[in-house]
Amino acid sequence: MFIVLLGPPGAGKGTQAEIVSDRTGLLHIATGDLFREAVRKGSELGALAKSYMERGELVPDDVTIRMLVERINHPDAEKGVIFDGFPRNVVQAQALDDALFSHGHAIDRAILISVPDEELVARLSGRWVCPNGHIYHALNSPPKRHGICDICGAELYQRDDDKAETVRRRVETQRPPADLVQYYARQGKLDEIDGKRRFEIVTRSLMQALQTVTPSVSHPT
Ligand code: AMP
Repeated sequence: MFIVLLGPPGAGKGTQAEIVSDRTGLLHIATGDLFREAVRKGSELGALAKSYMERGELVPDDVTIRMLVERINHPDAEKGVIFDGFPRNVVQAQALDDALFSHGHAIDRAILISVPDEELVARLSGRWVCPNGHIYHALNSPPKRHGICDICGAELYQRDDDKAETVRRRVETQRPPADLVQYYARQGKLDEIDGKRRFEIVTRSLMQALQTVTPSVSHPT
């Protein structure tokens, strides 16, 4: 089974993909993770990707596609993959189809986790940190006293890239483009999941969507 997971930043794609991978045995391929690993290793690819990643821009298609195709060529991808963060546009989607076709496979389903912009901004801009690295979230794990670290009593602040303005820009530029969503809808492969709901409920919907692809997928516990 070959699944594409689509969604804006803050939709919880990465964590959901990880859970689905654990429960189904599908290989989780996240291009963002591959790039971060390349940066950590200091490889040529990493050096190239780094500047784009730092600006919050997409790495050029040719580089990204080459990296993805190489990953798919590994034997561990033969049993099925959940793609997370790829494709980001129609060119990448077509390249993915071609690459899978050459292995005798095809995308079975694209699942879009939809979350309204304002909810994403609230989620992504809710992070507050203290100078000693303790992290809070205005919605999920607020400090006991507003603006003050529970652990060391220091004043909390927001990183520049977590500020609402910046987050809003990121959400606008990184949400899956309409023509990409259409690409899968036209092929009758698109499922849309309401990502506003509790995380576990979204996981359950995801698993149910996969269930309709193949009955061999185990049910959530
Ligand atoms: P992510 O973890 O998916 O948010 O990706 C982190 C960064 O890696 C993105 O902001 C891009 O710079 C780069 N990246 C990840 N996936 C892709 C992709 N499919 N195409 C281009 N750039 C990507």
